[in-house]
Amino acid sequence: MARSMVSEIGIGKGRFRKAFLSCLQMRHSQPDASERAIEELGDECVYCGISGTEERLQFDHLWPQASGGLTIIGNIVPCCPTCNSDRRDIPWEDYLRESPRVRARRSPPEVGGQIRKISIYMERHGQANKPTIESVLTRDELRLREDFNLMFHKLCSRMKRIGQRTVSGDPLLPLTKRGLPRPGAVHVLSRTLTGQRTTRRPPVESDCRPPSSGRTCRASRAART
Ligand SMILES: [Zn+2]
Repeated sequence: MARSMVSEIGIGKGRFRKAFLSCLQMRHSQPDASERAIEELGDECVYCGISGTEERLQFDHLWPQASGGLTIIGNIVPCCPTCNSDRRDIPWEDYLRESPRVRARRSPPEVGGQIRKISIYMERHGQANKPTIESVLTRDELRLREDFNLMFHKLCSRMKRIGQRTVSGDPLLPLTKRGLPRPGAVHVLSRTLTGQRTTRRPPVESDCRPPSSGRTCRASRAART
C-alpha cells in the first residue's frame, strides 16, 4: 500500500513527505544534541579533522534528514562547511574513504580510526541502523498514517478513473492554468472525505448524463462553475 502511494501521488517524495519528515524532525530534535556531539567527538570536523578554532563548525546528519535521520545525539556530528556541502547524501563512510579533502588531511589508518569512532558513537546512541518510520512513530500515529495513506490511495484511484491523473508529487488536486482545481477534482475529494458512495449508480436522476460521458452529475457540474 505505502509503496503504491509513493508512485501514485508522491507521498514518498513530494511535499507531503517533506512536511511529514519536518514534523518528525521538530518533535524529536534534541536542543543539546550539538553540544553533546562535540563533547563526545571533539571540537573538530569528524571528516577532514579541521579544528573548530580554525573554522566555524556546522553539524551533519549521518543518516540524512531526507531519509528520516533526526537531529539527535548519535546521528549528528560536527563538521566543517566544506565537508558538509561536499558530502551531500554520500554515505558517511564512503565520504571519509574517498573525499579528496579528507585524503589530503588524513592518512588511511587515521580514516579507519575515524570510521570506528563514528560507528561506536552511533551504536552507543542506538543510531547504527537506518531509521525507520516504525522506530519513530507511536502505535496510534502509525495507525493514523495508515488511514491517511488509504484515503490518498482511494482519492488517487478515483481521480484516475475519471481521468484526473496526478503527477507524482504535486499537486494533489490537478489544477487548471488559473490555479483552480480542475473539474471533477473537488467533487471526488469531497466525496472521498465524507465517505459518500462513489460507485457507479443507475442514472435515475433526469439531469445525470449517461455513463459514457463520464460519471458526471449535478455536483460535479457545479464544481466546474
Ligand atoms: Zn571537514
